[in-house]
Amino acid sequence: MSRTDEPLLRVTGLKKAFGANVVLNGIDFAVDRGQVTCLIGPSGSGKTTVLRCLNALESPDAGVLEFADGQRHDFAQPQSKVQRGALRDRSAMVFQHHNLFPHLTVLENVIEGPVHARKVPRAKAIADAERLLDRVGLADKRDSYPHELSGGQQQRVGIVRALALSPDLLLFDEPTSALDPELVGEVLLVLSELADEGWTMVIVTHELGFARQVADEVVFFDGGVVVERGHPSSLFTAPQHERTKRFLDRILRPMQD
Ligand code: ADP
Ligand code: MG
Repeated sequence: MSRTDEPLLRVTGLKKAFGANVVLNGIDFAVDRGQVTCLIGPSGSGKTTVLRCLNALESPDAGVLEFADGQRHDFAQPQSKVQRGALRDRSAMVFQHHNLFPHLTVLENVIEGPVHARKVPRAKAIADAERLLDRVGLADKRDSYPHELSGGQQQRVGIVRALALSPDLLLFDEPTSALDPELVGEVLLVLSELADEGWTMVIVTHELGFARQVADEVVFFDGGVVVERGHPSSLFTAPQHERTKRFLDRILRPMQD
């Protein structure tokens, strides 16, 4: 897929501190429409915090988020509730743990967001949910409760729940890291299919083999800044910065032994 000239989302100078802990110290990157951007970096480097800022779950201290259609958030100014809502509506997040409501069925979990947050008529929300569940092979689980599903099935429902919101941007925070190894593949397969369908996705992942296959751009961050970014074919094989090399060595070496 060719890169578009105008990114769907441009992130400039994003800063966030928790007390004295400066986690993001001026993050810049762009997400092109229909592209997969993988964020990698050491534990504690602020990957989750970036996603939470994009989804308005966290208020940045400074920085600008700008969408292709002109929607713009400059965090130097306090954001109103309406602005935060508008930002949140652009994306949907899939968490490390699926976060399904345990007392709701699969179908009820999926339609909850569309019906309550997006005011989609219930009948349409149900029809959309059934179609999406069918697409990830879970049509027969619509009336099951989360505890009746495997971890991989639960995470696939989590993905469907995000898709049901029809967001411009899908955000994934280490979507396979809480799964048993034999369940990782089925979730990565769904992510690859979504990439092929042209969804715009930002994925925090330690699955470098997967990132190499699906990412259009890999962004490596460390120490509160973007150290290096590029296509996986260059970033993984010929990293330009010492910190990137060290990080990749640490992750890749155990796999090669
Ligand atoms: P990563 O996802 O890369 O592992 P995080 O974004 O979760 O990193 O966290 C980055 C840093 O910010 C860590 O030092 C973490 O302790 C801190 N942090 C994250 N969220 C909060 C919070 N709500 N309050 C205080 N500190 C936080
Ligand atoms: Mg994290």
